[in-house]
Amino acid sequence: MAIKQQTMLWYWVAMIILVLVLAQSYFLKPQTTTIPYSDFKTLLAAGKVREATVGRSTIDAEIDIQGTDKLLPAAEYHAIAAESRTQTAPELRQIVTDRVQDPQLTSELQAAHVRFSGSVQSTWLSTLLAWVLPIAVIMLMWGWLMRKGMGGAGMGSVMGIGQSKAKVYVETATGVRFADVAGIDEAKAELEEVVQFLRDPQRFRRLGGKIPKGVLIVGAPGTGKTLLAKAVAGEAGVPFLSISGSEFVEMFVGVGAARVRDLFAQAQQRAPCIIFIDELDALGKARGITGVGGNDEREQTLNQLLVQMDGFDSQRGVIILAATNRPEILDPALLRPGRFDRHVAVDRPDVKGREAILKVHAKGVVLAPDVDLAVVAAKTPGFAGADLANIINEAALHAAREGKTAVQMADLEEAIDRVIAGLEKRNRIMNPKEKETVAYHESGHALVAESRPHADRVSKISIIPRGIAALGYTQQLPTEERYLLKRSELLDRLDVLLGGRVAEELVYGDVSTGAQDDLRRATDMARHMITQYGMSERLGQVTFDAPRQGAFLAVPEMPQQVTYSEETARLIDEEIARLIRESHERVTQTLSEQRGTLEALARLLLEKEVVDRPALDALLKAARSAPAAAGTPPAGAARAAPA
Ligand code: ADP
Ligand code: ZN
Repeated sequence: MAIKQQTMLWYWVAMIILVLVLAQSYFLKPQTTTIPYSDFKTLLAAGKVREATVGRSTIDAEIDIQGTDKLLPAAEYHAIAAESRTQTAPELRQIVTDRVQDPQLTSELQAAHVRFSGSVQSTWLSTLLAWVLPIAVIMLMWGWLMRKGMGGAGMGSVMGIGQSKAKVYVETATGVRFADVAGIDEAKAELEEVVQFLRDPQRFRRLGGKIPKGVLIVGAPGTGKTLLAKAVAGEAGVPFLSISGSEFVEMFVGVGAARVRDLFAQAQQRAPCIIFIDELDALGKARGITGVGGNDEREQTLNQLLVQMDGFDSQRGVIILAATNRPEILDPALLRPGRFDRHVAVDRPDVKGREAILKVHAKGVVLAPDVDLAVVAAKTPGFAGADLANIINEAALHAAREGKTAVQMADLEEAIDRVIAGLEKRNRIMNPKEKETVAYHESGHALVAESRPHADRVSKISIIPRGIAALGYTQQLPTEERYLLKRSELLDRLDVLLGGRVAEELVYGDVSTGAQDDLRRATDMARHMITQYGMSERLGQVTFDAPRQGAFLAVPEMPQQVTYSEETARLIDEEIARLIRESHERVTQTLSEQRGTLEALARLLLEKEVVDRPALDALLKAARSAPAAAGTPPAGAARAAPA
């Protein structure tokens, strides 16, 4: 791309130079016949010169053509005579001659009563052509280059330093409304407040309302983060300034920072408005994460962003929305209060949501009566909004190719297969067996949480893949904010973490790799209990050097300086293993006792993909009132406090 642009550039430069040369030679070409100096002298001596303008190197003169045919060579006479006449008299002609070093000239001109003047050599036209025009052209090209070359490497970006105007996409009206965004209602609801504020910043200010400066929209690619941000702008009726994080990061140190400044300056002018930074992770990666040396440019850009976010006054109605699918690698400084302190999660849609999204995109498409979008939704677990939009589009194209008048179910099926094939390559679709495993795994977590008095209540279970690592999740809402945790509470949490793995063991007699994160967290927790909180009888009330917490940053851990003996180290390891082993036993018992409920919950999950609190309550209630299933004691019995 860059190479092509450069060739184009040189082509243009050549064209412009050519035009200039032609123009110069045309306009500056003497309109008069050039004659030898000797002939000029002859004419002067003969009294034929009327007026003369003595320039630095030439003399322009007006001569009387009459009677000069004897004085001049024939060819020259005819050339002069053929020149267009001056207005003053029919016999007058203009000639020009090259000036020769001639001290007598002035006196001779005087003697011949010629009106003469000094150099007025360059007329305004020639000045214009020779100087002003080329400069104007060069400046035009400069501007053009700046605009063209902003993004690409090479010449363009060198010239465009600090001028981000070209890459900030400004939409005065996005035209997207909340109605165009389907299936992510929770995220929409959370952004409703931002819309209210942008509509009427004055009102919020008067009431002393505090408005977030930055909202981070977190979600997998194609889940509609950009769409959502545009919808906020559309609903509020404010301009939408967008730029991608990766565009900030340039080769040249300082460019990105200048762009950030420029972006914010533009936003201030257009307030109220929305700044949308896509791929925030590209520029907001934690500092130091790249290892030795780091990336100076990115760091400068990030620092500039932080400075600008702190510096500007959100009360004027500028709100920064940013999108990322990797919040965990963001620099913690970006997430501090006053920056991106609000997070809105955008999940892949569930069955209902998928149907709603399909409906939105099917609006402009003629559907045959046999089409049931609910069926399409059921067949597309794990699809994001963009994938669903793609399906409708593919189906419409397919139908058109076949010459149909409406999109039929067969077209949609075909499109699903196609999109699935594409997604499978990118590893984003679970096969049914995997899905079942995840359903049991999450049901295990949920049931253990519900069986432990000190564990947080389950608010939602989902087997919709989220992000790269998590295939499903069980969400627990703490009943209250906790600062101190008792040993019994920590043990209950440990149990919940192991619930997923144990459920897999019970159901399949085998385990999967899906519990890796659970096990890491369980081990971490056990290690903390023993080395930090003094919760081990064998080791006593002692703390040991903290394992360096890399909780948020994926910074490779530094080698630890160990300050305890090998013997103690072995003891610590033993104690950790014991805690985990005991927890494993407790959880195995709990889940075996509730095997029937586990099966029922997993089946419900497979069907609905998401089970919320009311659905879970209903299921648990049914299980309690019908404990008939083999060996399932009443739920109350399973609540035995952990050892
Ligand atoms: P992201 O920014 O999360 O990668 P986009 O917002 O760019 O995703 O989504 C790409 C396209 O997919 C949108 O333009 C829209 O057509 C479609 N899309 C995604 N999510 C939704 C949704 N929830 N409702 C309707 N359309 C959606
Ligand atoms: Zn798990």
